[in-house]
Amino acid sequence: MYEIENDLKLRERAQTAFPSGVYGHQASASLSPKHPQFFARAEGGHLWDTDGNEYIDFMCGYGTNLLGYCHPKVDEAAIKQQSIADAATGPSPLMLELAETFNSKVAHADWTMFAKNGTDATTICLMTARAQTGNNTVIVADGAYHGAAPWCTPNMAGVSPADRENQLTYNYNDIESLRAAVAEAGDDLAAIIVSPFKHDVFVDQEWPTEDFAKAARQLCDSTGAALILDDVRCAFRFTLGSSWETVGVTPDLCAMSKSVANGYSLAVVTGNDKFREGASQIYTTGSFWFASVSFAASLATIAAIEEEGAIEAIQSAGDQLRIGLDELATAHGFKLRQTGPSQMPLVLFEDDDMWEKNNFFVAEAVQRGVYLHPWHNMFICAAHTEEVIAEALQRTEGAFAALKQQFG
Ligand code: PMP
Repeated sequence: MYEIENDLKLRERAQTAFPSGVYGHQASASLSPKHPQFFARAEGGHLWDTDGNEYIDFMCGYGTNLLGYCHPKVDEAAIKQQSIADAATGPSPLMLELAETFNSKVAHADWTMFAKNGTDATTICLMTARAQTGNNTVIVADGAYHGAAPWCTPNMAGVSPADRENQLTYNYNDIESLRAAVAEAGDDLAAIIVSPFKHDVFVDQEWPTEDFAKAARQLCDSTGAALILDDVRCAFRFTLGSSWETVGVTPDLCAMSKSVANGYSLAVVTGNDKFREGASQIYTTGSFWFASVSFAASLATIAAIEEEGAIEAIQSAGDQLRIGLDELATAHGFKLRQTGPSQMPLVLFEDDDMWEKNNFFVAEAVQRGVYLHPWHNMFICAAHTEEVIAEALQRTEGAFAALKQQFG
């Protein structure tokens, strides 16, 4: 019998301890009542909540977990560094070693900077582009997420109109809309910001067309603006470089975070020499940005990704899950819309405009020990072995059966 009594009590306390429960993207309030809010433990591709329920976790810390939670080699490197020094008066030489590692692995990288969160990294890219070009206008895709700073947070509460000045939008994969925005920016264009693929919430995901990626590159080349790749969510899930290397286009500036230290807090900006001067002019820093545990963890993460063939592993686990879910759906008389790359899947139902099937299905899956998200892309990690995916599919079968009973 699935129960989350402890979780409900914790959530009640959270209502007064925090302004209004847990905030931001990890608030369970926007999910089904069956999704737990608090977790007690995480290991490999699994989570345990405070009531002792175990889940195969397909959110992977919203992308921070790439190799598996508590990866032994990453944790060993982090713990070792923790006992030496973390946040000190200056960084350890690991910072330099890690920057040199990024500069050698990421095709466009002539230099690297570190921060803590994805928003730090996208903001550094934007400031660098403005400092370098002397221009103000940035062009962002309609509906894309780039973080929670006033310039980009999706909710306008607490944001002044001035924070959003100098921004124009385009539609992802729509070259004409991008060209129109560039024309409108005229001689004030500082940057075009792109996501590696369209991974907006609630809507089908889209891989970039080659023409779109090349057009974005060409428009930046002809105007001198920066092509900024927001690789915060995707970095290292497709390649040990910036994700558009897989479509043959390199950005000028790239923001990474999430998985680059397998769960330890780190954000990375890589840039080319055209933007070195701009990057060196901006003032940006943070009390914890030079802490060395995350640098040690990131170096160990990069080594483990290579040693373990993690990128290939998550691709094949994602394919296995996608095929298995399709088979189960068909067997129960449903049709899924699975979009985006299979290692970062979004799973929706056909004929489900009101999200009824999706919400019901996901809640049923959670109760059977498979943590799914109804409207955000999910994440596969390297600890989702063939056996784990097979187990997840077996557990999910009951959710499809319950869905069939409910919706016929
Ligand atoms: N860009 C993208 C594409 C993201 O997915 C996120 C985080 N979900 C961010 C930026 C912001 O990262 P953070 O929450 O670490 O500030």
